[in-house]
Formats: sequence, C-alpha cells, structure tokens
Amino acid sequence: MRPLKMVDLELERRFLGPRLDAAISEVLAHTQFIRGPEVHKFAQELGNYLGGTKVIPCANGTDALQLALMALDLKPGDGVIVPAFTYVATAEVAALLHLKVRWVDVSLDHFNLLPEELEKAWSPEIKAIIPVHLFGQAAPMQEILEFARIKGVSVIEDTAQALGADYIFPSGERRKLGTLGEIGCTSFFPSKNLSCYGDGGAVFTASEAQAARIARIANHGQDTLYEFAEVGVNSRLDSLQAAILRLKLPYLDEFNARRRAAAELYDGYFHDIPALQIPYRAPWSTHIFHQYTLRVLDGRRDALKAYLAERGIPAMVYYPKPLHLQPAYYNSAYPEGSFPNAERLAKEVISLPIHPFLSEDQIYYIAEGVREFFK
Ligand SMILES: *Cc1c(COP(=O)(O)O)cnc(C)c1O
Repeated sequence: MRPLKMVDLELERRFLGPRLDAAISEVLAHTQFIRGPEVHKFAQELGNYLGGTKVIPCANGTDALQLALMALDLKPGDGVIVPAFTYVATAEVAALLHLKVRWVDVSLDHFNLLPEELEKAWSPEIKAIIPVHLFGQAAPMQEILEFARIKGVSVIEDTAQALGADYIFPSGERRKLGTLGEIGCTSFFPSKNLSCYGDGGAVFTASEAQAARIARIANHGQDTLYEFAEVGVNSRLDSLQAAILRLKLPYLDEFNARRRAAAELYDGYFHDIPALQIPYRAPWSTHIFHQYTLRVLDGRRDALKAYLAERGIPAMVYYPKPLHLQPAYYNSAYPEGSFPNAERLAKEVISLPIHPFLSEDQIYYIAEGVREFFK
C-alpha cells in the first residue's frame, strides 16, 4: 500500500500527466508571468462555474479576505463578527486593518457559526459578518443573511475550504458557496479542494463596480497607469498558477465527488463506534469534505492520534485552540468559557486523510486502525 498522507499531490500530478507540463510550458514560452492571458481566462472560467459571478484573482486566501474588508471601506474601530473556531486568517486580516473582532460560537454538529449566537455578539459598531464554510460544508447562510439584512451589515463568505459546494435553499434552489454574501473569498493553497502549486486566492462579487474596486485595490490602488486613486496592496495570482488552476477547474466536481465517496466509506466504518461523531450532513448544503473530521467524545482524541501515527496513519487536529484563546487575539472580555462549543471542539476534533486519490485499501487500513483503537 502507498504510504498515507493527508493530501497526496503526487498522485494528482500523475493524474494530470503531460497536460500539466504543457500548461506550464506555455507560460514559460510566452514569459508573461504576471498578468498573462491565463489569469484573465481562469477568472472568467471560475466565474462561469460559480454561476456568473465576477472573480478577482489575488495572491492568496488571506489577501482575498483583506481585499474584501478594504473594499467595504471599513474604518478602524468598526467591528466584524468571526466564528471562534476557524483558521486564523479570517480574524487576522480584520485585526491588521484595526477592526474589532467579535467572536461567535459554533455548532457541535456542523462546526459552523451559530446564527442564534449572532445577537449576543451584536453591537452598533459591527459592519460585517464573516461566516466560514468550515471543512467543506456551508454555514447556515439563510439565517446569517437574514440577520445581516435586518442589521444592514455586509456578509463576506470565507469559502477557502468549500469551493464547489452548493447551498440548498428550502425551495430546492442551489447556489455555489461564495456567491451568497456580498463578497466571497477563497484560497488555492495546495491542500485546498481547488488548488495551485504555490499560493493563490480569489475574491467573488456579483457587482461589476465592486469587482473593479477590488481589482484596483489589489493593484496598488492604481486607476490608470501611475495614477493611484487610493492606498492599495500588491496581490496577484501569477500566470503559472492560473494555468495550473485552469487545467484543474474542470475536475473540481469530480474530485469533490471522490472525496464524498471516501467520506461515505469512512462513515460506514465509524457509525457504530459510540465514542465517535461522524461528520454531520447539513440539509442546507452539499459537503465537499475539504476535511473528514470526527469528534472523539470519550476524551481520548490525542491518544487516538498517537495510536494512528504508530501505524503510519497521519491525522491532524484542525484546530487545537479556538481563536479567542490565542495570545495574539486574546481579549479579557472573552476569557476561557466564553465560547464553550468552540473550546470543546478544539479538544475533540480529529481529521483523517482525505483527497480524491485515496484508495479503498487505504481507507480500509485507516478505518481498521481507528476501529482497533476503540475495541
Ligand atoms: C486556507 C484558509 C485561508 C487562507 O488562505 P491562504 O491562501 O493560505 O492565505 C483562510 N480561511 C480559511 C478558512 C482557510 O482554510
């Protein structure tokens, strides 16, 4: 059996084969490494895939979030609501822009922001809410969007872990995650579901004017050549990365389906272990399993991780400490105990390897390791 990895990019590279080398060679031949034709074409293709949204490529997912906040003209001291249980980038950009981060607790089932907790975090300085679609499944967007509409604030979706997943409305209507809020953000970091071979990211908006503004901010605030209308940043997706992403985009749905199939196999092995909570499937979302994340309910999460490591089975804890308890973000208004679900998940979650090239043998081997531990 092939050695196990959380994500196996080598197998993906073999799958893409000579087409990958051809796509890269084309960029090497025209040498337009920055603002080459691939970047624009990729933005168009991803926009079509998402149902006709405008896509502004940028340097990484963290920048995408920063560009979104800058485009909303938030001022120092304005507040943004962020889930307490997520990757740090979401909160980091808000802090960098001197915005006040206001945490909200998350669900023990779907791990995403709990809409019923929003009112608790509310204060008049709040100007935006950033729900994160964690591990590949949508936050309860309808309730979040409704809360934002009533309060008159913007919603920025952090879609870094859920690109390609659908939101399912009660009517049955489906929309791609990242296109429900005012602005959507994503990352093409190598481990994400749609990934490049370096850093990359993108911002989504339905508004032509907002797209132009975001593109301007991402290009030093430049209006026309050497006319700088506002303070911006340098945040670009380069042509090589765009060429790789163009090649991979047509496989996104297939790759996500393969992840889902792997998750279903895992579920079958784990559903009868009382100490494990298998991933919840929210009725309002498809799940693209950026991570396959279990809750270990008997307090032995770290022991399980060590046991698996001895058998050559990698596992990761996303995330071992909620953001409100991180030294960089600590605020005495939110001591330990403030967000009990986030704090509990940090002690209970474990993510197993999942990617489109995980074989049934590998899944069986991993599952047997887990089952042995709980015997
Ligand atoms: C990966 C990730 C980001 C940041 O993306 P980078 O491209 O690494 O900057 C932001 N938010 C979430 C939820 C992520 O998983």
